[in-house]
Amino acid sequence: MTRVTLSRNLAMWSTALAVAGLALLPAIASAQSPAEPTAKDFQRLVDEAYAKFKDVTEGANANYIPILDTVPSELFGVAIATRDGKVYAAGEQDYRFSIQSVSKPFTAALVMNQQGPQAIREKIGVEPTGLAFNSKLALEIYPDRSVNPLVNAGAIAAVSLVQAASEDERWKLIHDNLQGFAGGELPVLEEVYTSEYETCWGNRGIANLLYNYGRLYSDPEEALRVYTRQCSVGVNTHDLAVMGATLANGGVNPLTGRRMMPAEHVPELLAIMATAGFYDESGEWMYSAGLPSKTGVGGGIVAVVPGRFAIAAFSPRLNEAGNSVRAMRAISFIAGELGVGLYGPNTGE
Ligand code: GLN
Repeated sequence: MTRVTLSRNLAMWSTALAVAGLALLPAIASAQSPAEPTAKDFQRLVDEAYAKFKDVTEGANANYIPILDTVPSELFGVAIATRDGKVYAAGEQDYRFSIQSVSKPFTAALVMNQQGPQAIREKIGVEPTGLAFNSKLALEIYPDRSVNPLVNAGAIAAVSLVQAASEDERWKLIHDNLQGFAGGELPVLEEVYTSEYETCWGNRGIANLLYNYGRLYSDPEEALRVYTRQCSVGVNTHDLAVMGATLANGGVNPLTGRRMMPAEHVPELLAIMATAGFYDESGEWMYSAGLPSKTGVGGGIVAVVPGRFAIAAFSPRLNEAGNSVRAMRAISFIAGELGVGLYGPNTGE
């Protein structure tokens, strides 16, 4: 083969490869940015999830906070909020339940805003515990005591880490931050606050132990009061979906346009939600739904599809790990149908 034919052959091959490459491009592009489901798809899926799981009666209301046992167990709502501020809903949307631990990542965001993500890593931690959300054992077996801002110890530490000159200011900053993520006013459910504060001996123990180990950054009882109040904030399914959509939208609330956190810190927050948002059931949840999420013993769960939308659901009956049975099923069903798991289309099973 002469030099000329060789180079002609090479030229032919490279043209052929380029054409093949071009043919592949749309497939690659669409794998990277899948077409967004239509309004119809979203509405159909929340309706289907509601119908499919409304008769599930497994689990039981939280009762270690006495008032939570009185919330009607049959309540069930599902909502999707997109990054352009549209909300698709089925079932109960108005009932305001206590946000509980779903508040935790948002206060972590506030600490990140004030002091950067290093403060979370160094002063609280970013590791999953593998232990229950209210574990005291974790405080003893981990050298840094608190492990992440989504279990009670780390969440109480996060409240104490918020820079404020007084208890009142600490609360206002935290409350305003939650309202900013939700894009509207959120009441405090005073009955929930009283019921929990009167019975929170475990959390008081945690706060005092953290203080003892130099891992709580305010007066322990102040941190405990503000933390309990934060958990008593009332949200409905719609509010939760918008809070998640704010994270899906790079930290900007899609309803109000208010920036709640810098876009570059959203992935760090979502990483903690992926590894610890479901406590000692986080691995199981990533396996079935594949989405960074946060649950609360009030029965709410919010899951984030980064850069796209959020799926929220609420129903009071919880499993052993303290996660709402119907909300989990509804969200992993929708995530499965849409194939939006972070690591590839999850089956939702
Ligand atoms: N306020 C609750 C507690 O501290 C929050 C727990 C939760 O939602 N998992 O026990």
